[in-house]
Amino acid sequence: MMKRLVVKIGSSVLTLENGTPDPVRFKSLARDIAQVIEKGYAVVIVSSGAIAFGSSLAGKSLAPVSIPNKQVLSSIGQPLLINAYLTNLRPYNKLVAQVLLTHEDFIDRQRYLNARRSMELMLEKGFIPVVNENDAIAVEEIKVGDNDTLSAMVAAMINADRLIILSNIDAIFDRDPHTYSDAKPIDEIKHIEQYRIFGEGKSRYGVGGIKTKISAARQLARIGISTTIANGRIENIVTKLADQFTREGGERLGTTVVANQKKISGAKKWVSLLLKSSGSITVDEGALSAVLKQKSLLAAGVVTVSGTFKQGDVISIADVRGREIGRGITNYSVTEIGKIKGKKSSQINGSLGYSKGDEVIHRDNLILTINNQDVPFR
Ligand code: GLU
Repeated sequence: MMKRLVVKIGSSVLTLENGTPDPVRFKSLARDIAQVIEKGYAVVIVSSGAIAFGSSLAGKSLAPVSIPNKQVLSSIGQPLLINAYLTNLRPYNKLVAQVLLTHEDFIDRQRYLNARRSMELMLEKGFIPVVNENDAIAVEEIKVGDNDTLSAMVAAMINADRLIILSNIDAIFDRDPHTYSDAKPIDEIKHIEQYRIFGEGKSRYGVGGIKTKISAARQLARIGISTTIANGRIENIVTKLADQFTREGGERLGTTVVANQKKISGAKKWVSLLLKSSGSITVDEGALSAVLKQKSLLAAGVVTVSGTFKQGDVISIADVRGREIGRGITNYSVTEIGKIKGKKSSQINGSLGYSKGDEVIHRDNLILTINNQDVPFR
């Protein structure tokens, strides 16, 4: 299959000082992306800029301060954003396809699969999905929040070979370059789980910063996808990076966070990429040690249940002190678990009038989130 790249482009790359779209940058990025597609890559763009562009047009009457204001500004800026990609990629006979997502599109398995299917078709047809958060409707509860995290979630969703995060920094440094003039850029981070994050490194318009970039790369490394963080203002950066991936040695650009394990697939990956869960259950000591040994969770070990969830949703598993130990796809709804908690498997039928099996969460659908094992995003 064609190699897949997710290219996340930050507001700092795309905007001029006054917040308007940078026409020169869009033009060169479009050429760069068209070039890399000619080399045989499939590309998904995750682009920020909607709020910045919206503010440049309507910021005088609506300051980008509160969530409602940002929602409106993003609605004004998003068409500008998509238009910039559209008009700049048309000369290369490339069509862009807008995809706006929120965390809800990931948390609901059906919606997740629908979004994935739609993006698969776009890629199959050679269209370029341009993804952003659906800021216009994204209130705090349903938000991913920043596009570094969103791009990692998209990379996981479409099973990308690599995530490229383009921003206004050249690389990750071994020390805070603002404080230490001798700080050196790091080519490669092999054990990101041991990496300590320093500084905020936020740009003027960006939501994330270094923290969210490292965190996105770390989560992807855990599921087998490498991330390269590089400066989006370098000419032909995507093509240069793509060449760097296939060639040994040569000029090194950016910092690559190397995936530290084989790809995990299917349901477990889905569970691992979610920021939020739909509910939670607490479990007793016995169930806790079973889960820690990667065994399925049975009704007998469930002590309490809370939230609003149905069969198939992702819920978190906590110990009696409330510490999250794992997450998984539940086979029973919150109401059903309320009736069968603490009961033996043989009693499920009696309590519900039916049984969907012994496991509340099957081990194939369960990941551990303590001790840094398969930790979900953030
Ligand atoms: N979705 C936001 C926008 O388009 C950007 C979020 C971010 O910068 O991470 O303005």
